[in-house]
Amino acid sequence: MIITLFGVRGTSPVIGPEYKEYGGETTSVLVEGAEGEIVVIDAGTGLRKIGERLLSQNVEPSLLLLMTHYHLDHVAGLPSFSPLYNGDWRITAVAPIMDGRSVDEVLDRVFAEPFWPLQVDTLPARLDFATLSRDIPGSLFKCGGLEIRWRLLHHPGGATAYRIDDPITGGSFVFATDVEWEESSTEERETFLRLCGEPSPPDLLVFDGQFSRENYDKFRGWGHSAWQTAVEVSRKVNAKQLLITHHDPKSNDVVLNEIEKKLKDLQPKANLARDGMKFVL
Ligand SMILES: [Zn+2]
Ligand SMILES: [Zn+2]
Repeated sequence: MIITLFGVRGTSPVIGPEYKEYGGETTSVLVEGAEGEIVVIDAGTGLRKIGERLLSQNVEPSLLLLMTHYHLDHVAGLPSFSPLYNGDWRITAVAPIMDGRSVDEVLDRVFAEPFWPLQVDTLPARLDFATLSRDIPGSLFKCGGLEIRWRLLHHPGGATAYRIDDPITGGSFVFATDVEWEESSTEERETFLRLCGEPSPPDLLVFDGQFSRENYDKFRGWGHSAWQTAVEVSRKVNAKQLLITHHDPKSNDVVLNEIEKKLKDLQPKANLARDGMKFVL
């Protein structure tokens, strides 16, 4: 499968030459399976470019949209997603109940009047919803041949980590943005470690590292981890490669390059996530 990052910024999008290297769009990830499956994780502002790309290619017009949660930086790209305005497309939005809210209930609100001229039931594309059962957390579901597992994370209002395995290539990918590991309970930590360990350590772990040990105490309770914590988690789960995401909007390229230098001293194979990064797993 091929993973492409379209947005690695946390909290709010940023624009300007000082953000050129890492990019300013908020979270959206395109996953393309070996059999042509299309999965998108999150609908941050980066989703707009995913839409343009999908419409420019000759692909089966069907995709699964996995939502980690609904903070604005993860839904703001949805109204600008071109496939929603094309009647050939079928989009299935999926998430567990978080903080008592289902995915259909929340996305209905994103398109509610007076926020947007079209509502969910008047969009040209077919938009379906599926709620993941919390009775069997982490249970496997499938998109074509892709195997998808999930666990809840510690974040204000809840968030979900997703794991995608492609049995054809043997590649595995764990996406855990918006998680505060430092404040997570033992149970929350153990369930996440299990997600990473079963059936095997992930080839690629993308993990929240908006803060650093130096400034974390000022932001305790905001729902994000220090990047040094992301390194510790990746070691615990034996991830082959670590990417740190959800960069602070105040961190320009100079600041992020400094962090990445320190990161590489600690974990040479780790990187900070950049817009447009692509991984073949
Ligand atoms: Zn976020
Ligand atoms: Zn969030």
